[in-house]
Amino acid sequence: MARGELVLTLPAISSKPLLSSAALAPYAVSEKHSRGRKYPESEHPFRLAFQRDRDRIIHSRAFRRLQYKTQVFVNHEGDHYRTRLTHTLETSQIARTLARALKLNEDLVEAVSLAHDIGHGPFGHAGEWALRDLMKSHGGFEHNAQALRILEKLEARYPDFPGLNLSFETLEGLKKHPAQLPGPYHRPLRMLEAEVVDLADEIAYTSHDLDDGLRSGILGVEDLDALPLWRQSRGEAEERAGGSLAGEFLQPAVIRRLIDRLVRDVFSCTLAKIRMKKLRTFSGLQKIRIPLVRFSDGVRRDHTELKRFLRKNLYEHPHVRRRTEEGQRFIRTLFNAYLKRPERCGPEVLKRAGEDGTPRAVCDYVAGMTDRYAIQEYKHLFANKE
Ligand code: MG
Repeated sequence: MARGELVLTLPAISSKPLLSSAALAPYAVSEKHSRGRKYPESEHPFRLAFQRDRDRIIHSRAFRRLQYKTQVFVNHEGDHYRTRLTHTLETSQIARTLARALKLNEDLVEAVSLAHDIGHGPFGHAGEWALRDLMKSHGGFEHNAQALRILEKLEARYPDFPGLNLSFETLEGLKKHPAQLPGPYHRPLRMLEAEVVDLADEIAYTSHDLDDGLRSGILGVEDLDALPLWRQSRGEAEERAGGSLAGEFLQPAVIRRLIDRLVRDVFSCTLAKIRMKKLRTFSGLQKIRIPLVRFSDGVRRDHTELKRFLRKNLYEHPHVRRRTEEGQRFIRTLFNAYLKRPERCGPEVLKRAGEDGTPRAVCDYVAGMTDRYAIQEYKHLFANKE
């Protein structure tokens, strides 16, 4: 062999799935112990169960619609604001970082992250509140419950079963907010992977809503120094830059440090809790009652202050409210029009109305709409009356 020639040694390729469990902590969810799928399927030669779940989610219609759904700013307001889709990707990225560092099941975390907001209707939380009111006497509406309904029933892609037939653990990971969710939506199985996604969601939305709020001009940098998290992150960013940061580089540098600060805090605090509780096994995890994936007390206090600040100064700002209230009006008008004439929604909805009742079928249809489609439909149906 000539000197300097590069020799590549490739590992033997096996037809068995590359089980990641060797690298997992003993309290992580392992594919080996998965409860499987509702409709049994044969294993894939080299994709693990949660990888397949992730792929099914990415290829679903509901996932693609996230690109035209509101996070905070209504979709057509600007190309650089977050949408539900980019929020979902940022959540997934943060959750995977934490999962890998904590030796949890990264594939499961990715699948749950990518599906965590799939049940949101158009126009963000304001849209959800409108649907909740409209469905009050028909069984209600809640986006986590709707995510499960989409994944278990509404996505029709396989002839052999309804929905995507995801693994039990992926569906379980989406059962969030137990206080708000009755019976079947409560998450009875404790999985650190699901808790990582919940917290990554919070880190993602607070940091990017702050970023988008500044971009929009609704929030000003001068208002933020009162917030400890901003102040500390700014100090750290300036220290790294070797002096004060100004102009276009200040905001991204501080947001970067803010995310990193929150993620590092969750990592070290969670690891400390796991050690303190001497957690060794997945069954041991089921007996622990305190939250393990968490911020330290000080950071949680500062993060709550940031959330409160965003609610008061961004989410309830007249500009944001005006847009989302307009969205609520579109939703209410469309819902009531379709309720009177469900045939306007097409044969798929009519068929479901026969199974689940017209209000539920119409609710599914409206909740599935993107902001863009809801506005277009509203104009189409009511253009002459306004
Ligand atoms: Mg979210």
